[in-house]
Amino acid sequence: MECDEWRIQALLVFVVVLFTVTLTAFFLPAISYSQLSSTQPSNNIANTKVVILSFDDNRKGDFTYAKPILDKYGFKATFFIICGKTTDKGAMNWQDIAAMQRDGMDIESHTMTHKHLNHLSASALNFEIAGSKQCLASHGYNVTSFAYPYDEGADNVTVVNTVAKNYELARSGSEPLMFLKCNGFKNHPQTDCRTYLPGGKLTYANKYAIRSLSFDRYEIKDLFNNSTIFSDFVKIVNSQIKYNNGGTINVVPLVTFHNVRPVNNVPYTTNVGVFDELMKYLHDNGFKVLSMNNLGYDAKNNAFYIKSVSD
Ligand SMILES: [Zn+2]
Repeated sequence: MECDEWRIQALLVFVVVLFTVTLTAFFLPAISYSQLSSTQPSNNIANTKVVILSFDDNRKGDFTYAKPILDKYGFKATFFIICGKTTDKGAMNWQDIAAMQRDGMDIESHTMTHKHLNHLSASALNFEIAGSKQCLASHGYNVTSFAYPYDEGADNVTVVNTVAKNYELARSGSEPLMFLKCNGFKNHPQTDCRTYLPGGKLTYANKYAIRSLSFDRYEIKDLFNNSTIFSDFVKIVNSQIKYNNGGTINVVPLVTFHNVRPVNNVPYTTNVGVFDELMKYLHDNGFKVLSMNNLGYDAKNNAFYIKSVSD
């Protein structure tokens, strides 16, 4: 009895996934990548299905398992490096990071030692934020983006001011879609992406609070069910379509991973086979995969834009 129920459920999941994939293939045909705008700033590029991928914490699996898959599909992603943790067990080392950059990956900063930033002394905060920029510079990486550990700090004026002195952009968490004019967050109404409100209070989304979703953390709710992880990902990356009609990019899904390895049921880890399926989906359905350095900020209009990208 239980076995039959399980079979029916598995069949149902299969049918739903098949239906979704078929529907997507027929009604959302891939658009050519070749006609990309050369004017900046502009969000009018022919392919309006985009996604920014980033990887935090320089885990070895990102080099060993994720990179070959990204390379296979010609995707470039951002890798946020903890500069003081390149010799830890299971970490990407400087050789790996150099190979990443050589093959077109974007290398950015994720602090010196991955501390919670909200309650640090001024000097400790400076060490984590400015120190990691200097540390990466000493290894030959001129970084312009920062990612907050534990998605903490983007609502803290002291932290944000230190970030602003050292970086052009910073990424935090909690949303699958980043609105380029910062005007679509239901619980956080804004009319543009200015950093401060007139009283000096921080806004929810701005150039030091670019919103992203830690996908492998979000996956934990699915109890590592691979077909649900796949369908969640498909839902997230396609949720942009209703906003990006008419050839204009108004929203970009920013999806963050941590570790990719051939293991199952490990928090903050995506199974390598599942990761390949996710990337294959993006490839087969005409998504343009971008990194953080494709994101520009137009200070005159207080809005983000997608920088012209060449194939
Ligand atoms: Zn992290």
